[in-house]
Amino acid sequence: MKDLKKYFPFYDKQSNLIYFDSSATSLKIKKVIDAEMQFLTENGTNPHAVDYKKGYQALELIEQARQLTKEFINAKKPEEIIFTSGTTHSINLLANGLKKLIKKGDEIIVTELEHSANLLPWIVLAKSNGAKVKKVELNDDFTIDIDSFKAILSSKTKIVSFASISNTIGAKNDIKLITKVIKDFNKDIIVHVDAAQSIGHIRTDVTDLNIDFMSWSAHKMYGPFGLGCLYGKYDLLNQLEPLFYGGGMSLKIESDLINYSLATLPEKLEGGTPNISAIVGFIESIKFVNLIGLENIEKYELELKKYFVDKVKENNLEKHIIFYNLDIKTPIILFNVKGVNPQDITNFLDDKYNILVRGGANCARRIEGVINTKIAIRASFGINNNKAEIDKFIEALKNTNSFLDVLF
Ligand code: PMP
Repeated sequence: MKDLKKYFPFYDKQSNLIYFDSSATSLKIKKVIDAEMQFLTENGTNPHAVDYKKGYQALELIEQARQLTKEFINAKKPEEIIFTSGTTHSINLLANGLKKLIKKGDEIIVTELEHSANLLPWIVLAKSNGAKVKKVELNDDFTIDIDSFKAILSSKTKIVSFASISNTIGAKNDIKLITKVIKDFNKDIIVHVDAAQSIGHIRTDVTDLNIDFMSWSAHKMYGPFGLGCLYGKYDLLNQLEPLFYGGGMSLKIESDLINYSLATLPEKLEGGTPNISAIVGFIESIKFVNLIGLENIEKYELELKKYFVDKVKENNLEKHIIFYNLDIKTPIILFNVKGVNPQDITNFLDDKYNILVRGGANCARRIEGVINTKIAIRASFGINNNKAEIDKFIEALKNTNSFLDVLF
């Protein structure tokens, strides 16, 4: 694949920076930035203000974005796409929306690798309703162990929620198989996929996968901040209790101030003025991913990972660095330099080599239950990266051997 850096204005004035943190957020493409700016400059009206042409055009842009999103994930209807502020909002909307379904003694199944956004909403829901959150066993490659999973499914199971790709160790679950196991056991169990780490990297066809709900953030697919989606099968989505009550979703409020009626989907779950400028940017982000092609993106990123892994072996880096997921086929690397705090390494890489990576728990607070450490360093590759940058990274990692000598 051609070098795609030209799409990312991030590099225009700082081509020396090596951005290896696409898992936290991908860099933004120029078309997204321009589209947001253009909307704010030339329109900037409220999409609820359909009394004049500008407001109506704003509303049409939302419907265009909804249609494109529907096609992007192969949903059945545009109404199955709810715009939120991001994955965190989407999962909170879902967990809150399912409150009435969860009764005392019910069970919600997750993995211990989940991001806090896919753990806390379920823990809070379970606590408030007297239900229980259970964790499923993982295989050596940190994916869900199907036999253990089958063993914990029961008549009490109401929801299963797991990440398509974990944001720390990069484990990639077989969504189709897991969903089939669940639905064969009981078709009424709700399956939710946290697709934050996969949406801009691998194709997700919700109809083919047969999942009930899916959440993601636009900022992880080269798009704007402050926008995300909750996908849901129409009938299930329609049963969710709204999280936000307010304008745009209310049709009628009776004079008794007791009775009211709400709009239908999707507006019902989108109370308040939407983040229209981000939605306009998101249109460009989907078009960009379609243009490059998810299959090409996946292939290129795996090529980068393989290149990195080969260099690690060639340079014998495993002597002083613990790598947790070299064998995993996703573009995320999780590691620790023996005897050194991860944050010292991230600062060192930033200060000395202009390499931007994350250190810590990366919002997966139960990672210690899986890999025997609470904290690690995460480097994540994207289509904005190339092999020359990986060479520089390898050089820098070699020098973490004499880390303390270099620093003082
Ligand atoms: N789930 C996963 C797997 C993630 O990687 C992230 C972002 N790091 C989130 C949820 C939360 O996304 P956001 O902060 O955009 O709501």
